[in-house]
Amino acid sequence: MPTRKGKVAIIGAGAVGTTFAYAMQIQGVASEIVLVNRTRERAEAEVLDMNHGLFFTPPVWIHAGSYEDCAEAELVAITAGAKQKPGQTRLDLVRDNVVICKDIVERVVEHAPDAILMMVTNPVDVLTYAALKFSGLPRERVMGSGTVLDSARFRYLLSERFHIDPHNVHAYVLGEHGDSEVAAWSMTHIAGMHIDDYCSLSGEKCDENDKTSIVEQVRDSAYHIIDAKGATNYAVDLAMVKVATSILRNEHSVLTVSTLLDGEFGIEDVCLGAPAVVNSSGAERVLDADLTEQESTGLRASADSIKQVLREVGLQ
Ligand code: NAD
Repeated sequence: MPTRKGKVAIIGAGAVGTTFAYAMQIQGVASEIVLVNRTRERAEAEVLDMNHGLFFTPPVWIHAGSYEDCAEAELVAITAGAKQKPGQTRLDLVRDNVVICKDIVERVVEHAPDAILMMVTNPVDVLTYAALKFSGLPRERVMGSGTVLDSARFRYLLSERFHIDPHNVHAYVLGEHGDSEVAAWSMTHIAGMHIDDYCSLSGEKCDENDKTSIVEQVRDSAYHIIDAKGATNYAVDLAMVKVATSILRNEHSVLTVSTLLDGEFGIEDVCLGAPAVVNSSGAERVLDADLTEQESTGLRASADSIKQVLREVGLQ
């Protein structure tokens, strides 16, 4: 079949890669999806299972392939790698996954030099930086899923707390997709009102203890899910679909993808989750925000902890 606009390649046909393909199939986001896995049989079986559902979904050409088949992809999502085991921190995974990342990125860039890369494999901020270096691509064309998922978890918890549709909650988690992430309360709005004003006006309670509890739930929820079912895949893949849609449809959505900072928030030479305008160019620009002193300090500490790992693996 001919290559059509809207082609997405996914490297890694595990829980995250296949759920991403399936979510895109259901939502009709892409016209072509190619799934590349170390063991091709696995990718072929996943593809067959999805193709059996084509009667029920918008049309899309889904196939298993090799790196050659990534040619002309607009977006390549990298989900391959060792995965987080129960009790293991995301940063523990770094060494194995940097090696895998180098191999994959070099092969992707050889066959799909014009694609936008979206790193998902953990530790995602370290690997986004690694992918940027290994690919030689411009800053905007290499991003990570960053804290898009964490921001969605934050919005969900606030929506539950206040019984408000998550679409009417604006809230961002910044920094590392991991333990040092920062919930930006100063940027949190409900129905256009800053959260503190919303609480005063509506008589709702949201004191420091409530806020701490919500932040802990955002930060630790992946650990609980992984302990119980071995992987997180639904919400992360919906987050990835949102990023993919914004790229393929040039939506200019503001999403906290992991992107290289170049002085924004007073931070440079590290990739971390920051509000960026995502469109067909990639993560086109980062929106600097006026954080509180406590949030700024937390974000710099988060950047420092990622940089520490980058140094440990020789990337800086
Ligand atoms: P998984 O083990 O189910 O899948 C990984 C897949 O990668 C496997 O199918 C494996 O065969 C394949 N693979 C391994 N090395 C490969 C290589 N060199 N080339 C091609 N394929 C290769 O893991 P999963 O649950 O799908 O998670 C994948 C990654 O995504 C993990 O690193 C996980 O921590 C990460 N993750 C990130 C987020 C996020 O928000 N960034 C959320 C959830 C999971």
